[in-house]
Amino acid sequence: GGDSDAEHVAFYSRDMNQGMQERMRIETGLRQALGSGQLELHYQPKFSIADSKIIGAEALVRWRHPERGLVPPAEFIPLAEATGLVVQVGEWVLEAACAQAQTWKDAGLPPIRLAVNVSAREFTSALPGRVKETLERYGLEPCWLELEITESTLMHNIDRVIGIMDRITALGVTLSLDDFGTGYSSLSYLKRFPIDTLKIDRSFTTGIPSDASDCAIASTIISIAQQLNHKVIAEGVETVEQLAFLKDSGCDEVQGYLFSKPLPASEFEKALREDWLA
Ligand code: C2E
Ligand code: CA
Ligand code: CA
Ligand code: CA
Repeated sequence: GGDSDAEHVAFYSRDMNQGMQERMRIETGLRQALGSGQLELHYQPKFSIADSKIIGAEALVRWRHPERGLVPPAEFIPLAEATGLVVQVGEWVLEAACAQAQTWKDAGLPPIRLAVNVSAREFTSALPGRVKETLERYGLEPCWLELEITESTLMHNIDRVIGIMDRITALGVTLSLDDFGTGYSSLSYLKRFPIDTLKIDRSFTTGIPSDASDCAIASTIISIAQQLNHKVIAEGVETVEQLAFLKDSGCDEVQGYLFSKPLPASEFEKALREDWLA
């Protein structure tokens, strides 16, 4: 009846209001966090399967919140993407990753590739210039930097996206395709993208070796990568069985808790030094 509908509507809008207030609270907080140094990067090592050496790291953003402690990106990146604030977050992340790379370079550490996640909204014609300028300002060779982009980035306007990708790879910066297999990008487009690496999503790695479909998907991604001359990395590797399957299937690189969680910069540096001396 009419009464219960009215109640329903009232409840609904009150929930919406609470949701909106929560979002505004996070957005305001995130703006302050950007201005007051509350964001930080953790680094998860990437390993070569062949010799188990660290060949790079993925920079993952965290929010060191004064009351809530260390807030994971899942709790603020989706909102930042919805509001557009992710562009400023991304600028901060690129800046912080390059500053860190410069510090490690100056300390004489071996040049590893630092991967930065770039969301679709950041993937504009302004990005290649910003990347170039930032690398130059920190005196870094482009081989220090890799950008991880997701399939959703590729869905927007293929020709425009390829133009931006070409300008980035012309700098010598590599691109990897993150969460591969979870989106809807057409395989026929894949050959047109100047991609260095395909990244097998954790949702597939998780099912190895017990889930036959996940095994099939992972080995198919590996053979697509091989045939298109791309490298392939698996994320979310947690067990030796997963590692063995990936190695047998011809996967090049791995990343996951089996080897290391994302580490604060100082701990990553320690791991890199030990790995380097070993
Ligand atoms: P992603 O790019 O797919 O990153 C991989 C996530 O899986 C990371 O979570 C990482 O800590 C986690 N992970 C790695 N190995 C394992 C494992 O063996 N097991 C399990 N269970 N998890 C593993 P994190 O750091 O919480 O990041 C979540 C997502 O937030 C990222 O997913 C990425 O989409 C986004 N994100 C993180 N940092 C940034 C950033 O700087 N910019 C943008 N645009 N997005 C970011
Ligand atoms: Ca990533
Ligand atoms: Ca990923
Ligand atoms: Ca993923």
